[in-house]
Parts: sequence; C-alpha cells; structure tokens
Amino acid sequence: MKTVLVCEDEVAIRDFVVINLTYAGFRVIEAGSAEEALERFDSSVDMALLDIMLPGMDGLTLCRTLREKSEDMGIIMLSARTQEQEKIDALRMGADDYVTKPFSPSELIARIEALYRRVAAAREQKQPVEEICSGSFVLNARMRTVTKNDRLLDLTQVEYQMLYFFFQNPDRPLDRTEILRHVWGDAYIGAEKIVDVNVRRLRIKIEDDPSAPAHIRTVWGHGYQWSA
Ligand code: CA
Repeated sequence: MKTVLVCEDEVAIRDFVVINLTYAGFRVIEAGSAEEALERFDSSVDMALLDIMLPGMDGLTLCRTLREKSEDMGIIMLSARTQEQEKIDALRMGADDYVTKPFSPSELIARIEALYRRVAAAREQKQPVEEICSGSFVLNARMRTVTKNDRLLDLTQVEYQMLYFFFQNPDRPLDRTEILRHVWGDAYIGAEKIVDVNVRRLRIKIEDDPSAPAHIRTVWGHGYQWSA
C-alpha cells in the first residue's frame, strides 16, 4: 500500500494533511517531531512529507537523515512562503519537491501522486528479471518455481537450475561440461554422467512423451538443446 510518513508539529495542519491523504487512498504514518518520525520510519514508507520548522531536530536534518536511510523514497518538504533559502537547502539535502503553506488539498495530492509515480517507476527499473517465459513454461526466479501450462512443476534445486540455464540458452546446443559447470560448479567436472541422469528425470517431469522429448533434445556426441 502507498505509504506516506507525515512529520508536522502543528496538529491542525497535520490533521488536515492526514485526512486528505487517507481520503486519497494513502496509508499515513504520523509524527509530531523529527525524532518521532525516525522512530516510526520503516521500509514500508514510500514517501515522506516533512515540515521544515520543527521543534528539536529540524526538517532539513530529518530530510538528510531519511535520504541516507533510503535512496529511492520520495521526500516532499512543507515550507512557509518566507523560507526561500530553506527550500533550496532542502533540495540540496535530497528532497524531491516542496509544497508552500498554505496549500490546497488538491495541490498536495497532485504533488504526492506525481512523486509516487516517479518512485514506483524507479523501483521497478531496479528490480532484477523475475520471470523467464519459454513457450508454455514460466520460470519465477524470486519464488524459484517453474510452471508448465500454469501447472507448478515439482522440481529439485538441481532440476530448477538446469531449466534456468536451458531457458537462458534456447535453441543452442549445450555440452555436458558447460551444463555441469553452470549447475554444479567446477568441482564436478569429469562427472558428466550426472547431467544425463538429471536430464532423464527432468524429461519425465516436463515432457509429454519422455521417450520422444520435444523440449530437451539430445545432441549426439555433444550434449543437450532446449526448445520451447
Ligand atoms: Ca512546524
């Protein structure tokens, strides 16, 4: 859920912000001071809305501290109209944007929504490849699972690693040593027979007819080739 940490010491403004964010579908974590904000901050926070003038630690220091904790969260500063220099300082300390008081709920929500889209897009780009599709097979690298026609295959870790290697090299003849090195590591070189044993087991699990394999084909005198 889209989560915003709101740090504002003036209760009336904080309540106003919290009500509007909640109404717009955000989950809100409230804090009345920078110290409280740091205490309540956790990895669920996507964005922070920070007042600059706070008792105790000020908003700019809080901004810098949060930025050190999370590179990809969004930070918007709340500032008074007279705080031109502070706005510039805030951007220098890692804030993404600022909103000047007094502000309308629609302006605030529009800024937060826009920033959230940037944060979400940046996070998505950082995600490693999670799924490899190969014909009717789908491998999920995060869950370490493979499905065939949406049915989960019951695989050992070695079988999973072999399929991962095959899916990354479709229609390419792979020799036993290459498969062995990739799945088992260099220590197993010389034990090419275990590749054959595991291919036989994999065929039983994934081929419609294991005696006439359509996916893991034998390349005589060489090794195996994956075809989706
Ligand atoms: Ca304040």
